[in-house]
Amino acid sequence: GAYRTKNVLILMSDTGGGHRASAEAIRDTFKLEFGDEYNIIIKDVWKEYTGWPLNDMERQYKFMVKHVQLWNLAFHSTSPKWIHSMYLAAIAAFYAKEVEAGLMEYKPDIIISVHPLMQHIPLWVLKWQGLQKKVIFVTVITDLNSCHRTWFHPGVNRCYCPSEEVAKRASLDGLDDSQIRVFGLPVRPSFARAILSKDDLRVELEMDPNLPAVLLMGGGEGMGPVQKTAKALGESLFDKQLGKPIGQLIIICGRNRSLASTLESLEWKIPVKVRGFEKQMEKWMGACDCIITKAGPGTIAEAMIRGLPIILNDYIPGQEKGNVPYVVETGAGVFTRSPKETARIVAEWFSTKRDELKKMSENALKLAKPEAVFEIVRDLHELADQRGPLANLPYMLTSSFTSLI
Ligand code: UDP
Repeated sequence: GAYRTKNVLILMSDTGGGHRASAEAIRDTFKLEFGDEYNIIIKDVWKEYTGWPLNDMERQYKFMVKHVQLWNLAFHSTSPKWIHSMYLAAIAAFYAKEVEAGLMEYKPDIIISVHPLMQHIPLWVLKWQGLQKKVIFVTVITDLNSCHRTWFHPGVNRCYCPSEEVAKRASLDGLDDSQIRVFGLPVRPSFARAILSKDDLRVELEMDPNLPAVLLMGGGEGMGPVQKTAKALGESLFDKQLGKPIGQLIIICGRNRSLASTLESLEWKIPVKVRGFEKQMEKWMGACDCIITKAGPGTIAEAMIRGLPIILNDYIPGQEKGNVPYVVETGAGVFTRSPKETARIVAEWFSTKRDELKKMSENALKLAKPEAVFEIVRDLHELADQRGPLANLPYMLTSSFTSLI
């Protein structure tokens, strides 16, 4: 029958918080499951088409304060939601044209937003283009627990929540049960599909075959107290009495080159590997026994799939804060900012407190959702099927939008 490749536009912003990782996981899974049926475009639309403040946290904040105060005065309103809408309306008035052009260029059949600030304006543009009923618009939330209200928009076809906690918030914020799905955070398919034995991985990665291993990292950018923690572990994992190591250390610095070169220049009493940006995180996680990381949602979800107890040593204020209780309250890990404390905990896990390590590993596995990204993509496929043939969408570049404001 008539068959046309469908366009899927994923809206993201490369500002950390797992947005890029989730976007790429969705793209790769579409390819695996449906091949050429879908054409996936990942776009930082705002960065490329508007240059507006939304992709820069600091400027965004200043902009918001400046303009929200005005709206606040004008409307004598204290409702955060109302203020938000006005803030976004103000921005929309400035940037609607560019956003519209960005969306129209790709003629999407499905739009997936993986960013807390990318629901309102795209949905407005669709509405004013008369495309609301034709284009599927969904949100994939990448905060594991507490999350910002701008994630929730009643106009979406689906809101994919990574946890029951987030689903509850979506519900409270007025989304209907028919819109909410709880599959888990999308993690790249290699985490779900690969069958890995720790022994084989250690051979492949040239690690010590017997010593317990701790993985130390700080998200894609190598953030948090990585260097101090590495040094403290270098001491705590060396048994002075026996004169030998009780563990080995893998440090993945991501895109932080200067961190990697500093760490490489140090001398160690224990086996240490310093790596830059790694493409096969599932292997390194599969070869280790626990992980130390900032509270990035991607890294946390991946560690849970591999059953790694987690020491959280940092979080990006705001967006990542809620991920801390998600790990700590479920018994999958602990939080401490102190490198010394972290090093002590790992040394205990590798010696006197092996039971605790095992228990936390089991708790982490209970929360693991390796199938999440497959379930999301299959659900989207069903939604697209229900829409029937989507050919000849009436995309137009008439900017009716701006005249309405
Ligand atoms: N990551 C990677 N290679 C690296 C370092 C990190 O593939 O060398 C991945 C990591 O596995 C995770 C993502 O980058 O999927 C980081 O996402 P997270 O939400 O933890 O933090 P962000 O860096 O987005 O703030």
